[in-house]
Amino acid sequence: MRIIMLGAPGAGKGTQAKMIAEKFGIPHISTGDIFRANIKNQTELGKKAKAYLDEGTLVPDELTCDLVVDRIANEDCAKGYILDGFPRTIPQAEALTKALAKDGGAIDYAIDVDVPDSDIVRRLSGRRVCLKCGATYHTSFNPPREEGICDSCGEALVHRDDDKPETIQKRLDVYHSQTQPLIEYYHEAGCMYKVDGTRSLEEVFASICAILE
Ligand code: ADP
Ligand code: AMP
Repeated sequence: MRIIMLGAPGAGKGTQAKMIAEKFGIPHISTGDIFRANIKNQTELGKKAKAYLDEGTLVPDELTCDLVVDRIANEDCAKGYILDGFPRTIPQAEALTKALAKDGGAIDYAIDVDVPDSDIVRRLSGRRVCLKCGATYHTSFNPPREEGICDSCGEALVHRDDDKPETIQKRLDVYHSQTQPLIEYYHEAGCMYKVDGTRSLEEVFASICAILE
């Protein structure tokens, strides 16, 4: 089961991807999480990626595609995986299609979590993340048990710099110009599914499970 999550920043891709990964026993691969971990650990990749994340633009395809193609070749991906935040451009989608086609494979499900821009600002300004274990919360819609503390690992939660108002609009513009065309790309590939992401976490999850089961 090879799944990709599409949708604007803050649409709920990561939240749903974690739940799906757990339910179906497949790895959740978030390129955003991979870049943030590399930035935190000050790796070469992290140093190259940082400026792009800070300004809300995309890390160049040449730094991104090989990373994902290598990751999905790992043994833990043999039964499938869920990609969250990749692909984000047509060249990335083409690189993924090409890599999978080498073994006669293809993406099985591309799921677009549809949320209008007007809701995104509220979603992202309330998002709090754990940089240690990757858990995601929302101050109103999905709060942790203790304010500012990760339920899973006890780490202090952070408000991502790129979730501040000045960067959110930039990221939405990048999404509409570079990532939204992927909906048509996967529609043509015959694996595009859309869910209404404005409903509760549980309702969105139930719709996605109905597609996958
Ligand atoms: P993405 O991975 O698409 O950027 P996230 O999964 O991190 O988005 O979700 C963005 C924010 O919105 C988080 O704070 C998350 O807790 C919250 N959120 C996710 N899904 C919903 C939902 N269905 N209703 C309300 N808030 C949600
Ligand atoms: P996310 O955690 O998915 O919101 O991603 C945060 C940031 O990481 C984005 O704004 C980009 O700068 C970078 N990023 C994540 N995934 C990709 C990708 N597939 N291609 C390019 N940049 C990416």
